[in-house]
Amino acid sequence: MKVILQDLTKKFPSRNKKANTEVTAVDCFNFEIPDGKLIGLLGPSGCGKSTTLNLICGLQQPTSGKIFFGEDEVTHLPPENRGVGMVFQNYALYPHLTVKQNIIFPLENLKGKAKLSKEEMNQKALEIAKLVQIDALMDRKPGELSGGQQQRVAIARALVKMPKVLLLDEPLSNLDARLRLQTREEIRRIQSETKITTVFVTHDQDEAMSISDMIVVMNEGKVQQIGKPQDVYNDPVNLFVAKFLGTPPICVFDGRVEAGSLIIGSDKVMDVDSVSDGEYTIGIRPEGFIVNDNGTLTCNLKTVEVMGRDISIVSEHGSCQTGSFRSIVSSEQGIDITKASVQFDLKPSKVFLFDKETQKRVPFQVK
Ligand code: ADP
Ligand code: MG
Repeated sequence: MKVILQDLTKKFPSRNKKANTEVTAVDCFNFEIPDGKLIGLLGPSGCGKSTTLNLICGLQQPTSGKIFFGEDEVTHLPPENRGVGMVFQNYALYPHLTVKQNIIFPLENLKGKAKLSKEEMNQKALEIAKLVQIDALMDRKPGELSGGQQQRVAIARALVKMPKVLLLDEPLSNLDARLRLQTREEIRRIQSETKITTVFVTHDQDEAMSISDMIVVMNEGKVQQIGKPQDVYNDPVNLFVAKFLGTPPICVFDGRVEAGSLIIGSDKVMDVDSVSDGEYTIGIRPEGFIVNDNGTLTCNLKTVEVMGRDISIVSEHGSCQTGSFRSIVSSEQGIDITKASVQFDLKPSKVFLFDKETQKRVPFQVK
């Protein structure tokens, strides 16, 4: 089932009564979520992710705009008639019910033709429990499960009615680091097997990048960029997106273009074409640096960490907006750690120019 968001907007009255300014939590969101795909909705806290999910599932009504499931408009349909499954961050299982009873719960309220017999309900619960691999735990209470197991129960409960759309709101944030990794792979597997159109909300770029078919990057209620994770990483439309994606983060410098040369501080680092002279913000991905004694960017060497395949170098440059920055080079590139400075060449495809005012990406050609 494809899901279409059309000019979707949600405004809230200000919480501060004196200020009397409304908050635009979601600002004219337009997107056609392709059928059967897993979409990662990504952005910092407060950017409007949960509100977007609540609008899709019907827990909140938009101020303006429309939502379609397939060809049908659902904007004003109550949540129970939309066929959505939702998993929240605090997955709130019923503590006094067993795993099986928790999973069956959404089936018990089905009416009319959809009504199921006890056997049918048990059968469905077992199928779903097998899918999320908790079928051995059916008679336990939530208190007798680990965090990861409880999260699986919550996912099973959201899936048991075979929803057309599955919405997951930061479903992994209550889990410890290892379990988070494991559970996100599980979610990917379950989604691939069921092919249910899924929106997965997270503020963790690594999480979104690793499991999504497409990511939507949001900031302050506005969609910044939509695309395949690797495409967005390689081709950010603005400084916000460039900074939000990637670990270690992109290195940001103040620089300028003069007569076809890109200059950082007093270092002429690259020849560039088809870009006008002026000041720019320059982003360089950590993997865009090549150690070279005759390299064009000269930095003070701070620390070098060898991590197996890679070397992580922390160095300083007067024009770096954060003072120091971390670059990642292959351990095959020798680096003399006794020296006070390090020289880098840059990989042009890893260098981005941004307008100082608008922070939009400014394309350039490599000479
Ligand atoms: P996220 O899930 O990305 O952290 P939310 O969608 O929860 O963000 O919130 C987006 C913005 O809307 C925030 O500024 C938040 O304070 C505001 N907001 C969310 N829900 C309400 C509400 N019920 N009343 C007023 N403001 C709200
Ligand atoms: Mg939220």
